[in-house]
Amino acid sequence: MTQDSLKDTILSTGAPALFDSFAAKLESVDRDEPLILTYSLTCEACGSERFAVSAHPVIVPDPSPYHALTPGDTLQRPPHRARCAECGHIAALFDPRRQGYDGVLGHGSGYECGDEGEAFLDGPYRLAVSLTYNAEAEELVEIAEEADVKPADLFDWIAIAGKPIEDAEPIDWDYECA
Ligand SMILES: [Zn+2]
Repeated sequence: MTQDSLKDTILSTGAPALFDSFAAKLESVDRDEPLILTYSLTCEACGSERFAVSAHPVIVPDPSPYHALTPGDTLQRPPHRARCAECGHIAALFDPRRQGYDGVLGHGSGYECGDEGEAFLDGPYRLAVSLTYNAEAEELVEIAEEADVKPADLFDWIAIAGKPIEDAEPIDWDYECA
């Protein structure tokens, strides 16, 4: 019941601002706790599902300052943008400093972000974005109203998956946002 209500609240108040520059389609709803909504993205300009995705890469130095990354690995730092492989339209995809629960509420992000050196992974990829919500519906509505955002903007976790259409390494980026 609680999860139905959370799902209904989020779906009835509109898709997150994250998808403002895309045509996003809800593909699946996982109603177990926590609630996970998965969207597929298409280009708002031409309707294509083929994207290149950008990051701000750094090569991990030796010794590695990053947990779970070894020297020589590439860390694909956010923010991320998506570029349509058909028409070239570029859309902001995710910035942990401004999006997700902590980003929206101005709590800051623990993730190292890049401001220069953006590089696109050409793929092309099909993009699926999963958003996780772990709150009571009423509480989420209250916080959203105070912050002047949609409840859907207050996700706790985001997973960005890029499935290669041709030969490329899959993309699998996860960010905890709360
Ligand atoms: Zn396009």
